[in-house]
Amino acid sequence: MATEQKKEEKSDPIIQRTLVILKPDAVQRAIAGRILQRFEDVGFKIVGMKMVWVDEAFGKKHYFDVEERHGPKVLQGLLKNISEGPVIAMVLEGVAAVEQVRKMVGSTEPKSAAPGTIRADFSQHSYALADAKQVGVKNVVHASASLKDAAYEINLWFRPDELHTYKTVHEVHVF
Ligand code: UDP
Ligand code: MG
Repeated sequence: MATEQKKEEKSDPIIQRTLVILKPDAVQRAIAGRILQRFEDVGFKIVGMKMVWVDEAFGKKHYFDVEERHGPKVLQGLLKNISEGPVIAMVLEGVAAVEQVRKMVGSTEPKSAAPGTIRADFSQHSYALADAKQVGVKNVVHASASLKDAAYEINLWFRPDELHTYKTVHEVHVF
């Protein structure tokens, strides 16, 4: 499973699906609508969406490679964060959705994420503060890092019959 953000390749499908999670901090701060608006504004199609309160065991399945990449302490804080309240999970579809949604989300630490990205615009959390409080860094959203990750994560969070096929106006005016 690719762990780093992967640049689009010529062989990648043009229209892709990616998993986005509005994490418990986003839901509790009541900014879900504003974040969703950004994705809708770009024209991404919501093909699946639900509110779920996951436990740490499910979080571990989702973040299966975090311990290997960041160590057990980070995984522990992260599992605490992701299971502390309900999340809104969604599957977005559109042109190069995996890479474009990651671009909109920004880099992992809100403090150092580029202005204009969701993580920078909606949070000031830092690794230092997260370490001091022994929690994961509260960065508002999750987005799949690669096509391979997206396929794994969508399958983990959604049954096939929870994903929908329909047409948006973007398919008439943009594509
Ligand atoms: N994380 C953290 N501290 C770190 C690295 C990661 O708390 O030093 C958390 C953070 O919430 C991040 C998640 O672990 O979103 C998954 O890490 P990853 O490297 O996959 O970052 P992402 O793909 O979410 O940017
Ligand atoms: Mg990741």
